Amino acid sequence: MKGYRSIFWHRRDLRFEDNVGLSQASKIRQHLTGVYVLDPKLLDLELTTSKSKNWFLGKSLLELQNNWERIGSRLLILKGDPIKLIPRLSELINISSIFWNESIEPYEKYRDNKVKQKLIKNNQQIYTFIDQLMIDPGKIRTNNNEPYRVYGPFYKKWLDVIYKTKLSSNNLMQSFTISDRLVDLNDAELSSIKDSNLKYCVNNPGDDINNLLLENKFEGEKICPCRPGEHASKKQLSLFINNGPIISYEKGRDIPSKSATSSLSAALSLGTISCRAAWNGAQITKSLATNKYQLDSINTWIKELAWREFYQNALINFPELEKGPYRIKWFNFPWQNRLDWYESWINGLTGIPIVDAAMRQLKQSGWMHNRCRMIVASFLVKDLLIDWKWGENYFMKALVDGDLASNNGGWQWSASSGMDPKPMRIFNPFRQASKFDPNGIYIRKWLPELAHISTPDLLTGEIAPLERKYYPSPIINHKHQQAIFKELYSNLI
Ligand SMILES: Cc1cc2nc3c(=O)[nH]c(=O)nc-3n(C[C@H](O)[C@H](O)[C@H](O)COP(=O)(O)OP(=O)(O)OC[C@H]3O[C@@H](n4cnc5c(N)ncnc54)[C@H](O)[C@@H]3O)c2cc1C
Repeated sequence: MKGYRSIFWHRRDLRFEDNVGLSQASKIRQHLTGVYVLDPKLLDLELTTSKSKNWFLGKSLLELQNNWERIGSRLLILKGDPIKLIPRLSELINISSIFWNESIEPYEKYRDNKVKQKLIKNNQQIYTFIDQLMIDPGKIRTNNNEPYRVYGPFYKKWLDVIYKTKLSSNNLMQSFTISDRLVDLNDAELSSIKDSNLKYCVNNPGDDINNLLLENKFEGEKICPCRPGEHASKKQLSLFINNGPIISYEKGRDIPSKSATSSLSAALSLGTISCRAAWNGAQITKSLATNKYQLDSINTWIKELAWREFYQNALINFPELEKGPYRIKWFNFPWQNRLDWYESWINGLTGIPIVDAAMRQLKQSGWMHNRCRMIVASFLVKDLLIDWKWGENYFMKALVDGDLASNNGGWQWSASSGMDPKPMRIFNPFRQASKFDPNGIYIRKWLPELAHISTPDLLTGEIAPLERKYYPSPIINHKHQQAIFKELYSNLI
């Protein structure tokens, strides 16, 4: 006979508030224990993550663990392959049911299916929920029941479904709260774990998280704009929406020297805040807006939330995006892939000030402004002629908010290899700098060695050798590289 214990498996929902699956689980099961698995596949610093993201994860888990203890239960931290560990734990404490919020990435979906198969064999009940996205992806289809490939029509449909399903209601979040005190593992359950090879997760709670933080010492933790944990994420959202930068987002969002965006990307990716909380915050601010510019600004921010969902839907419907370009002719592009140029790009030493400032911001703080992500991505692909997959991989190894769907979407958009209908988008880094950092404030902040250079020279990158000292001269000529890129592209079949 099955026991009365249930578990809630946290994955990208490291919070208590407005957590759809956790709220449902706590409503029907009092004997509820939380679980998080530190999965080496998702913690791989060479392929899937960064020190900054692991720092964000570790700090957020420590807070989550406290939250579980506060309501009388606990969060178990397991380390290893979830396909083995979740069924093993379920067996040890003889659970009746397990709850989780659905994931969208190809590996995560594979993992969940494998876990499901094992649990079903053991007659354990599985309850899954949509939490990571505002709308069930199955509901966002064209009239021909096909997935959307273009953002504009996707956005219209997304809004339509949200309004029709009354998801826009401000009361929405209140229905997903944890109501009761929960009941912790009893002595018998604890000793079954203690007698097993999972004993460390009850004997030394928190050790694995602390080890994760120690192994991933992130130098930029003080300056990273994304703050870990549910509490900090809520505060960050509140500062952004309560008469904050959201009401002037329309213009502010493009100025990298300003803190004019929410910096909630890591929180939304690891789920220390819900997408509904972000949406609701925007709706409340909208109801208080006093002029059209404010309204436009708030709507523009909502459109960014929709970009996030667009890319997640894209990855669900076209999982092959993970492996390479959506437009197959890009498979034949003759990348030049010069390692020395790639290294210069990574280290912010290309001699193009706006590119280098952005790459240093990423290296030092774990985050980069969206305008600059577009500039450096275009530069890598269309000036340095380096495969965008290299850039995509480096971003995952450096970003605090590295997220397969958004990162892949952003890179395919910049490379013109994705679903975007505008195939030939090329950024001129000097024009971008003049438009979005006209006084060189951002460049000077991240390239202090150029602080003394006049603004016009900073923006054009034409700095006299004596003035530039150790800062390199440009490694390429933009015009020349553009010509080569266009030629190579036009020869693609
Ligand atoms: C080459 C490239 C790579 C990128 N890689 C990532 C990534 O790994 N993870 C990531 O979260 N975003 C990525 N983005 C999108 C975007 O740059 C970041 O989401 C944004 O800069 C985060 O800052 P913010 O939280 O202040 O955003 P805000 O401007 O406050 O926007 C609010 C939220 O909307 C979402 N969002 C905003 N812009 C986009 C966008 N273009 N695509 C998808 N979602 C968006 C994010 O969740 C963001 O937190 C990438 C963009 C490019 C061009």
